[in-house]
Amino acid sequence: MKFAIQSRNDELSNRLMDEAKKYLTDFGLVFDEAEPEIVLSIGGDGTMLHAYHKYQHRLQETAFVGIHTGHLGFYADWKPEEIEKLVIAISRKKFQVIEYPLLEVTVNYQDSNESVTYLAMNESTVKSPEVTLVMDVELNGGHFERFRGDGLCMSTPSGSTAYNKALGGAILHPSLASMQLTEMASINNRVFRTVGAPLVLPAHHKCVLTPVKGPDFMVTIDHLQLFLKDVKSIEYQVSEKRVRFARFRPFPFWSRVHDSFIDSDV
Ligand code: NAP
Repeated sequence: MKFAIQSRNDELSNRLMDEAKKYLTDFGLVFDEAEPEIVLSIGGDGTMLHAYHKYQHRLQETAFVGIHTGHLGFYADWKPEEIEKLVIAISRKKFQVIEYPLLEVTVNYQDSNESVTYLAMNESTVKSPEVTLVMDVELNGGHFERFRGDGLCMSTPSGSTAYNKALGGAILHPSLASMQLTEMASINNRVFRTVGAPLVLPAHHKCVLTPVKGPDFMVTIDHLQLFLKDVKSIEYQVSEKRVRFARFRPFPFWSRVHDSFIDSDV
C-alpha cells in the first residue's frame, strides 16, 4: 500500500512524521507523495484541511487518518503516543472507511459563461470588501430573503463544529448529507429582514447567492481565501463526492464532540 504524510511542520509533528515514515516503510508500505492510498495528517484539524486539499483530485483512491499533536481534533483523533499502534493497524491494510459529505461551491462570473467549482470539507464563507454584504438568497429556485450583514457561511456537517458553531449553527452528525447556512451579524429592523436562524438544507437542494451590491467578494473555501471580482452568483449544494477517512477503532462523533467541547477527562 502507498502512503503519504502531511505534517503541520512543527518540531513534534515533523519528528512523528519521520518515525511514522520509517515504521511504515519497515512494514513494507511504499512512500508515494503523488498517488497515496492512505494519507497520515500529523498536526491538527487545520493540517487535515491542507491534506484534503492537496489530494482532492483523488478522493476515490485516498483515505485520510489524523494524529493530533496539540488538542484533540475532529479530523485528527489519534494521540502521538499511539503512533506505533496506528502504524501496525495501517500495515495490516484492513480498515473501515467512513465517508463524510462535502460542499460544492460554484462561482459564476458576469459577462462570461465562466464558472469555477470548489469542494469544501468544512465550509465556504462570503463577505464583502464593503462594510455590509447585501445578497439575495434563493433556495431551490425561489427567492427566500435579501441578506444584509457581515457575511454568510455555508458549512458541511463535519465543518459544523468549526466556524459554523462559532456563528451559532447547530452541530450536525456527518452521516446527514446536508449543508447549513448561518448568518454573520445580519441587520434586522423594521426595514430589513432575514430569517435570523441557521438553515439546514438536504442533499439535492440548491442555495444561490446573487449580489445586490457588489460585484467583488471575499470568499473562503476552508482555509483558502479568495478575492473574487465580477461575481454573478455563488451556488451551494451538497456534493456527490465524499471524503474518505480510515477508521481503525470506533470513536463516535458525539464522543469527539463531548471530549472536544465538554470534558476530555470524563
Ligand atoms: P486557524 O485559524 O489556524 O484555525 C481555526 C481553528 O479551527 C483551529 O483550532 C482548528 O483546529 C479548528 N478547526 C478546523 N476544522 C475544524 C472542525 N471541523 N471542527 C472543529 N474545529 C476545527 O485556521 P485553519 O487551521 O487554516 O483552519 C481553517 C478553518 O478555521 C476554517 O475552515 C474555519 O472553520 C475555521 N475558522 C473558525 C473561525 C471561528 O471559529 N470563529 C473563524 C475563522 C475560521 P486545529 O487547532 O486542530 O487545527
